[in-house]
Amino acid sequence: MTRYDPAALDDTHDPARQSWVTSANDPAGDFPLQNLPWCVLRAEEGARVCVRIGDRLLPVAPVAAAGLLRDGAGRPFEEELFAGDHLSPALLSLPPARRRALRAALADLLDARASAGTAAAVGAHLREVGELLTPIRVGDYTDFYASVHHATHVGMMLRPEQPLMPNYKWLPVGYHGRASSVRASGEPVRRPSGQRAPAAEGEAPSFGPCQMLDYELEVGAVIGRGNDLGAPLTLEGAEEALFGLCLLNDWSARDLQRWEYQPLGPFLAKNFLTTISPYVVTMEALAPFRAPLEARPAGDPAPLPHLRGELDARAGGVAARLRVTLSTARSREAGAPAQRLSEADFRLMYWSFAQMAAHHTSSGCDLRPGDLLGSGTVSGPTREARGCLLELTWDGAVGSPLPTTSRTPIAVEATGEQRRFLLDGDEVTLEGWCERAGARRVGFGRCVGRVVG
Ligand code: MN
Repeated sequence: MTRYDPAALDDTHDPARQSWVTSANDPAGDFPLQNLPWCVLRAEEGARVCVRIGDRLLPVAPVAAAGLLRDGAGRPFEEELFAGDHLSPALLSLPPARRRALRAALADLLDARASAGTAAAVGAHLREVGELLTPIRVGDYTDFYASVHHATHVGMMLRPEQPLMPNYKWLPVGYHGRASSVRASGEPVRRPSGQRAPAAEGEAPSFGPCQMLDYELEVGAVIGRGNDLGAPLTLEGAEEALFGLCLLNDWSARDLQRWEYQPLGPFLAKNFLTTISPYVVTMEALAPFRAPLEARPAGDPAPLPHLRGELDARAGGVAARLRVTLSTARSREAGAPAQRLSEADFRLMYWSFAQMAAHHTSSGCDLRPGDLLGSGTVSGPTREARGCLLELTWDGAVGSPLPTTSRTPIAVEATGEQRRFLLDGDEVTLEGWCERAGARRVGFGRCVGRVVG
């Protein structure tokens, strides 16, 4: 048995390979033959589990039903793997070797070197990109706090004397989130109402619409095989349990959060909506972009043995660029393009997804196919790399021990508007992509949400 290596490359990563779906051959595109992310299309006859290729979708069940989808040994992939309204637990929990074989089989069918007969038979099933549904039925959702740059910035606002809590460098901090309100890109962001802190001591809190609505740029990890209750994953087992990644926007009501979060953490401030991109990019597609996480600063402790490993040290990170843009009702009216708010490197995280998953199960807790882990807000050390408005404006106008010089609203260049937090009509878009010399660019698509009153 060879060890699972998430950075191992094979034929499917060959950057020279092209597809007969010619739109996939644009070097600047998100969806070349080397990506093939999973998604779910709302079709007239029902939901269809698809892979995206160029500007088209390929529903996979009919391709399997036609006997076209076989591994290198001729063994078929059963149609049932691709049935249902979501990526099925059977698909998500395929063992890594079978996941690789499925990817290879799909790539062969869509390769420019496929026979004319194959291209015609597969091409008959291609669809236009229509309405994409939430790709996974999320069983449980856990959100982490794995960017030390984000944690440090937020900590400086709340506790300038000790920005990071003593546990931060020893374990990936997280909380159990809400799975029922995870939706695919495009879901309207309905401004939540809730309790806000009393204006003065002794007064009652007020109840009303959130006035400090924020986004959080995150990456989501979809769990594949998971683990049994009472059987923690090793760090390597945790890496193997990851099926793929998506973009994730952890919408946050900062005024509600401020009043409710002590002592048990976020609750209503985060449970009204979490938006994910409609595509799940497989760990196999990300293999060329695996890299070490940013080196820990000298003097930081090494992780405890169950969170430390050679594989994770070598390839625990994913070198992805992540970008947030904003448009407002007025900027769209003026025909202005969306304005960039931040861009960050996902490799600059303090904890890897394998470490998050291993830590999650270290108590014996079971992860199941379709569970979702959020990375926490992805920020870098610079102002341009801060992944939420709380950080970008350094906490808006709320009283806390902050340097006044950094309470700067965002200027919307096209209209002269200012933003400390999101107003109705504002639209936030997350984008992500991986690029490096010698590999084809692989993208995550877009994760969009527009605020409605
Ligand atoms: Mn978050």
